[in-house]
Amino acid sequence: MGAGMFIESITLHYLKDFRCVGALCSDSCCTGWGIALSDDDHRTLQRHLSTTAAGEALLRGNIVTTLDGEGREHHSIALRGDASCSFLTRDRWCSLQQRDGEPVLPRLCSRFPRIVSIVGQRLEISATLACPETARRCLLDPRAMTMVPMPEGMIADNIPHNFFINLHHGNPYIAQFDRVRAELFLLCRLNDYPLATKLFFISYFASRIGSFFNSGGHDDSSSALNHEFMHINRPGIRQEVHHQFSRIALSEKKCMELIAQVMDAGFSRAGTPSFRALLIRSLVGYGADADLHGVAIGIDRILANYQDAKRFWSAEFPWELDQYLTHYVVNHLMSNPYIKEANLLSYIRELLVFVAVFKFILFGLLAGERNVMEKNREEKTSILEQHAVHAMQQFSKSIGHNPKLLDHVRSKIEAQGMNSLPHMVFLIQF
Ligand code: SF4
Repeated sequence: MGAGMFIESITLHYLKDFRCVGALCSDSCCTGWGIALSDDDHRTLQRHLSTTAAGEALLRGNIVTTLDGEGREHHSIALRGDASCSFLTRDRWCSLQQRDGEPVLPRLCSRFPRIVSIVGQRLEISATLACPETARRCLLDPRAMTMVPMPEGMIADNIPHNFFINLHHGNPYIAQFDRVRAELFLLCRLNDYPLATKLFFISYFASRIGSFFNSGGHDDSSSALNHEFMHINRPGIRQEVHHQFSRIALSEKKCMELIAQVMDAGFSRAGTPSFRALLIRSLVGYGADADLHGVAIGIDRILANYQDAKRFWSAEFPWELDQYLTHYVVNHLMSNPYIKEANLLSYIRELLVFVAVFKFILFGLLAGERNVMEKNREEKTSILEQHAVHAMQQFSKSIGHNPKLLDHVRSKIEAQGMNSLPHMVFLIQF
């Protein structure tokens, strides 16, 4: 799949000179002592590196070979004492990639964290934020979500794609993908409005088109869709929708109960060990008592402490928090095409649950910081960035690497009957 066969190849600004941090994953993709290599990976490395003495030395020094109980060889890339990959250079480049380019990279490295989509005649490269470096760049760089042409050599020609969207498909739900997603991007970028309003715009749009635009509909819906595009893009309509949304006041306790139930059903039981540890740290930040058996805290106390932390940090860093969450949402729209869900509102609903859970974890970690008032702006910024990036990476890894977790969460959301616009308001206002 050469990039040349596409009319256009794009990526996001934060990925165009992406550098590996050599810490692919410590939970599921790697063996206990290194980054697992398939037999094909190992053969490719041998073919490329064994042509020179320096390459031979690299192979000897960085590849670990072990035997299983049946005498079969397994290979992995050695990790250093700090758990970083032994091919990582001091300035955080991959020495394999520098030496021989993308084709030599092990399958795990050439795919993770990139997500390859083919949308009609366009090749798109986005990424999961389960990688610490993509999470850092995506959240913290103000230009991160600008779409840019894909640099030459960014991906190997034979890299498989994650998604293929056929824009000539008989079902308008798929065929109109590019236009509908472009509208979601556009609504997310209306920076004159706060994030909550932007999220409400996309929920409002999704709820209005749901009756005729879904995975089961095969009738031509283009004129109805055009009408809805025109409707949501009228400045007066947006202003009115924003006004209506700002006047809705829901019970904060109900919002918290909803999130607590979704989290209890899925995240606290089915996440990775490191994600569970993060969740416990967050709950302790809200004042939970933790012991060997778990954590204990009442919902009223969590709610009060959540609101305090949210109020304080949102007042101090409104633009930064808006940026982190907007970037997360746009990255999700790009790397998780909505066609996986039966209708757009279900897709948005899942995204809103993710945003709410991320906020819950982040504000818990921030609430656990001591003596914040005494810190200067720079110190506070550093605390916020560190927790936001770490929470996002762990959260993304947990949902990305554990399909069971998502199934748990989806079934809980379904059981709650969260399928209308008012439910979206609950999630947005959390
Ligand atoms: S081999 Fe290269 S791309 Fe893979 S983890 Fe190591 S440094 Fe990163």
